[in-house]
Amino acid sequence: MKCPKCGSERIQMTVSQERKKHGCLWWCFFGIFGFLAKKQNVSVCICQDCGHNWKIQQSK
Ligand SMILES: [Zn+2]
Repeated sequence: MKCPKCGSERIQMTVSQERKKHGCLWWCFFGIFGFLAKKQNVSVCICQDCGHNWKIQQSK
């Protein structure tokens, strides 16, 4: 796996569950989808060189 930004292969990957805090506006617009959506495992990759981070969604 490579960093899409700088091409480095020094990637740190962590797995977290997609349950973030959201503001009131977010809930107003997306709340219904938030309740319908199942919890997802999300892999977060962090480039050790440039700090770029991105998610890889793993639907279960
Ligand atoms: Zn990078």
